[in-house]
Amino acid sequence: MITEVEEKHYLTCGCCGKYYLGFIPKDKDGVQTYDNGVGMCPDCGGDPKAKTVKKRMGWAACTFYEARFDLLRNALGKEAKAKFDGLSYQKKCFVIQRMLEKGFIKW
Ligand SMILES: [Zn+2]
Repeated sequence: MITEVEEKHYLTCGCCGKYYLGFIPKDKDGVQTYDNGVGMCPDCGGDPKAKTVKKRMGWAACTFYEARFDLLRNALGKEAKAKFDGLSYQKKCFVIQRMLEKGFIKW
């Protein structure tokens, strides 16, 4: 069986514009999803090997969820608001994700 070894390339982050060494982004079928030379750096797109949740998620995902924290929080009653405030960052993001999937919050 022949296995293709993927090489890292010098890419430009499509989010922050900085150069980084990484893999060209591909979808689940292996089709390149960006123009050659563009992707998302680990700071923006997340680093699965990072120790903290925020670094694993990356700046782009953190910004996406954090922008919706207050939207949800302001719609909650006093008790639910206190409960939401007590959740960890990861659980808050999970709640937002579930609300998006259920259609309670718009993308
Ligand atoms: Zn970046």
